[in-house]
Amino acid sequence: MQLSGKSASSGIVVGRALVLKIDPIVIDPAPTTNVDAEIKRFRAALAKSKADLGHVRDAAMAAMGADKAAIFESHMMLVEDPELTGEVEALIRGKNQNAAQALSEVAAKFVAVFEAMDNEYMRERAADVRDVTLRMQRNLAGIEVPDLSTVKDPFVLVAHDLSPSETAVMDPKKVLGILTNVGGKTGHTAIVARTLEIPAVLGLKRATEVLKSGDWVAFDGDTGEVVASPDETTRAQFLRDRERQQKDNVELRALVGQPNASADGVVVGLMGNIGSPQDLGVLKKYDAAGVGLFRTEFLFMDRPTMPSEDEQYEAYKTVLESLAGKPATIRTIDIGGDKPVPFMKIGKEENPFLGYRAVRYCLDHPELFGVQLRALLRASVHGHLKIMFPMISSLEELQRCKAQLEAARAELKAKGVAVAEKIPVGVMIEIPSAAVISDILAQNCDFLSIGTNDLIQYTVAVDRLNERVQDLYDPFHPGVLRLIRTVIENGHKYGVKVSMCGEMGGSPLHLPLLFGLGLDEFSMAPTSILRLRRQLKGWKLPEAKALVEEVFSKSRSQDIEAALERARTARA
Ligand code: PEP
Ligand code: MG
Repeated sequence: MQLSGKSASSGIVVGRALVLKIDPIVIDPAPTTNVDAEIKRFRAALAKSKADLGHVRDAAMAAMGADKAAIFESHMMLVEDPELTGEVEALIRGKNQNAAQALSEVAAKFVAVFEAMDNEYMRERAADVRDVTLRMQRNLAGIEVPDLSTVKDPFVLVAHDLSPSETAVMDPKKVLGILTNVGGKTGHTAIVARTLEIPAVLGLKRATEVLKSGDWVAFDGDTGEVVASPDETTRAQFLRDRERQQKDNVELRALVGQPNASADGVVVGLMGNIGSPQDLGVLKKYDAAGVGLFRTEFLFMDRPTMPSEDEQYEAYKTVLESLAGKPATIRTIDIGGDKPVPFMKIGKEENPFLGYRAVRYCLDHPELFGVQLRALLRASVHGHLKIMFPMISSLEELQRCKAQLEAARAELKAKGVAVAEKIPVGVMIEIPSAAVISDILAQNCDFLSIGTNDLIQYTVAVDRLNERVQDLYDPFHPGVLRLIRTVIENGHKYGVKVSMCGEMGGSPLHLPLLFGLGLDEFSMAPTSILRLRRQLKGWKLPEAKALVEEVFSKSRSQDIEAALERARTARA
């Protein structure tokens, strides 16, 4: 049986499932009849929680180092926080509440306070409070959490959900992989899994229903594909894929530190796309030449209020500093479309992809746009910042965005705040009208970046999320390729560099074609960078140009795809 979830940590796994079932916490509202005994019970649960967390910290220290283990040190402090414990005990004494009820009330209050804070670090503490108080609740109720360290054979852990502290104590030699019903790529469980390099697919919805302990399961952490109870042939296929992937990874790792150059020495930029400063680790690991796209809207999602100017500034500064002089292209928010942000109150739209999105919203909300622009300008002194505007469809829009940027600069200057003198400003080319007038746009900005994800959907009129028409979403369509060629030619005619930050930028099939067309920079999921670096080494520019000729002589996308496929296999 096939399941599909969110790829959270890379790697192919075949193993036996161990389904973690932990009783849910049920809180009985009945008042306590013996206050002293209840307080004693509460303190015993605290002591056990602290001792448990001591083990968690030691295990995390051994597996991930002091840096990552520090969070559990702070969890231990939270267990003893007099404000938290004092309030719980006050409710037990003052209102005769039982310990679980009192703890749940106080925890909810703490979580709400942290969640409302401006500062991201403080907001993350809300997850810590949840994690710690869940542990306390389980200890109060005497709910046993199975001790995975006593399981002898390696297993694939299957759970409804896992907290960061549960994930952090996992031994990668024992836990072959992680599958959960809930959660996503950017949650802490995913981040810890990536740090420990345990392959994981999250958000599978029904993994704990479909799988039983002892069942075989095979999955691919890169695609999110999971096969429950695979037959022998499928298992053998996954194992072969795993072996190939492992060999390939060793070969690719050897390319770290080498230039992004073709066989005849033509250098391009192979950059990484990121969604938050948390992705900087993977960016470094895969040796990105910089950030080609920081999708800043992820800083605005999954939260009740907008990030403040200071919080945004800190995030941008962290990225710029960590890149140590390499360029970081930071895109202003592209909310709307498939990325709704409830507190912005865009509401439901008939055609969200054709609707109130990105700069269309920002230009109507200068107060919100101004916060982001000021944060970016303030951060500009910490590294090599490039600012990019998404969803530009006309010169007027670009001019209005630039005017707002200049207004923000003037505002900061008046206050004596330092801002870098020259910050390149670029335009995303992801709407066909922008591609067609890319000559005009190129004369009014410092770089162009082709967003193929949207450019394809708007060119062939296919909603990129509508499964019924996915066959028509065609990255080989000659119309799409002609637009891309136009943009590159127009950019170069007016002396601006052209990059690509949509999925096509990381596509091995398109690499020689785009190289032959003269694309300057390719930006992609960081994990693809070394693979493209290896591929680029196999091409000379004149050969790539000949491939361009061949591709543009064809009228049907299937012939184009076949030509690109032939070109790739000939060099594999
Ligand atoms: C694109 O459209 O290609 C792009 C990079 O932007 P997003 O995927 O964030 O819409
Ligand atoms: Mg886009």
